[in-house]
Amino acid sequence: MELDDHAEELASDLGVDKEEVKSDLQNLVEYSVPVDEAKQSLRRKYGDGSSGGGGTPSAKNVADITPEDGSVTVTGTVLTAGKRSIRYQGSDHVIVEGQLADETGRIDYTAWEDFGFEAGDTITAGNAGVREWDGEPELNVGESTALSFESDSLEISDEISYEIGGEAELTDLEAGDRARTLEVAVLECERRTIDGRDGETEILSGVLGDESGRLPFTNWDPVPEIEEGASVRIENAYVQEFRGVPEVNVSEFSGVSALEREIDVGSDATTMDVGEAVRTGGIYDVELVGNALAIRDGSGLIQRCPECYRVIQKGQCRTHGDVDGIDDLRVKAILDDGTGTVTAILDDELTQQVYGGDLEDALEAAREAMDQEVVADEIRENVVGREYRVRGHLSVDEYGANLDAETFEESDDDPAARASAFLEEVDA
Ligand SMILES: [Zn+2]
Repeated sequence: MELDDHAEELASDLGVDKEEVKSDLQNLVEYSVPVDEAKQSLRRKYGDGSSGGGGTPSAKNVADITPEDGSVTVTGTVLTAGKRSIRYQGSDHVIVEGQLADETGRIDYTAWEDFGFEAGDTITAGNAGVREWDGEPELNVGESTALSFESDSLEISDEISYEIGGEAELTDLEAGDRARTLEVAVLECERRTIDGRDGETEILSGVLGDESGRLPFTNWDPVPEIEEGASVRIENAYVQEFRGVPEVNVSEFSGVSALEREIDVGSDATTMDVGEAVRTGGIYDVELVGNALAIRDGSGLIQRCPECYRVIQKGQCRTHGDVDGIDDLRVKAILDDGTGTVTAILDDELTQQVYGGDLEDALEAAREAMDQEVVADEIRENVVGREYRVRGHLSVDEYGANLDAETFEESDDDPAARASAFLEEVDA
């Protein structure tokens, strides 16, 4: 059934203007409220007696709210309140997202307009909608909600309220987190021009670090406080998944201030079993140790498209057709530690190390043999059967687990390998 038909049905059932109902319905559906739920909520809004008497729904404790509740009245302390701008029907619309808690538990909420509450405020949301998100109930605070501020704060145990203000460490962050507060060092930062929804726009992207680890970030509305080497406090950041790992998003609504103290960035990446790492679904900075079982096709001397920089086959780019390829070096090595398998991807510099030569050497070898596969063969000879310690960014998707290597070193856990490395040094 089309949205139009749903609106028609609602309008005739409720005896109200169809266009008005349709615009409400469209509104809810665009905010990803399932259409049946949207219709129910509109039936309530326009006073369809069949859905249970009307009037203000009874007050509930947070822990007692279920996705089956159509709407509830709830009193809680705002733990986090993060503003975000979304585009709706061609114009920008500010929504507020975060968590609310009482003595019984915590619940996520989305406020479709800015009611002006902040973290730490105690509020009563009368007639807040409830929807299911990922199997959990979530509150919708919208125009049919009566919102009031309470002067008495609630007694909430530390266990429940530890997140007032949303303070978090980088390794605690997960995609979907809202309104987080971080104290971090800016480890890498570059200015880029992208095609945004309003045309070309400048953004900052790079890497943040704290005591717990490192994560990539994007600053959509560049602020001067964010620059390489700076220590900053970022309030109201949100987290999205980008290329398989959580990414910190700093928006126009985030507060960024310089920190007096230096941030100690842990230099050691988390070391994990391959299987354990793959099961996390992706980690920005991780160290894995495994045996190189094989070198995959597409390793050694390769050619890239000059337009999109993707690897091309026989002079053909999937997007740009017949192109004049750029020569490059790369390795895709399969690593296994008995618990799982990943493909480690080595850039040109790391490839030079395991190949023992640079791009010129590779081109010459390929010319001599009249076959560029000789480069991959040489690398295979050098790498397969040895154990490596690899640090990098792990992403896991339907194509498998890929570890974008930052370092790729022969593991020194094995005394025999250590001895042979030592002998090589002596020989050299
Ligand atoms: Zn291309």
